[in-house]
Amino acid sequence: MPIVKTLHWPNEAACQAFAADMVRRPHWGQALVCLHGDLGAGKTTLVRHVLQAMGVTGRIKSPTYAVVEPYEVSAQCIWHFDFYRFSDPREWEDAGFRDLFATPGLKLCEWSEKALGFIPLADLDIQIEVQADDSRAVRLQANTTLGEGLLA
Ligand code: ADP
Ligand code: MG
Repeated sequence: MPIVKTLHWPNEAACQAFAADMVRRPHWGQALVCLHGDLGAGKTTLVRHVLQAMGVTGRIKSPTYAVVEPYEVSAQCIWHFDFYRFSDPREWEDAGFRDLFATPGLKLCEWSEKALGFIPLADLDIQIEVQADDSRAVRLQANTTLGEGLLA
């Protein structure tokens, strides 16, 4: 059974504080994290705060056109995926996504729904929902032992 936790982010600072907390948790650097929510929910914003909390400096691009944006900081590999434009299953092999998902490191995925059946089970699913007052309702779901450790 997955473990579920709900959070409320009144503002972006709360999202940033969550990111700072997550990156300190054991095995975070090996997690597969899938982010869910409508356009504008705050998926990319969370990824940016995570990358910054992990020490990535400089411009953080949204990978919508490239599908994946790789980062390396103190020997830690991080991949930020955005599958919004993913439509051709052949791309999974051709672009080397299969190999990337088999490589150790942190994977942060937006729009994993578009690559359903390709992406392995996420350690952690994060659902972000905009509320009427522009705050965010957040649902965390751990699907693996690693994910459960992140929520402990
Ligand atoms: P997505 O990647 O889900 O399409 P973005 O991260 O690109 O969304 O955009 C989310 C927007 O909402 C950003 O402009 C961000 O500053 C804003 N925002 C406001 N409140 C929050 C919050 N609590 N958490 C995350 N983003 C927020
Ligand atoms: Mg985005």
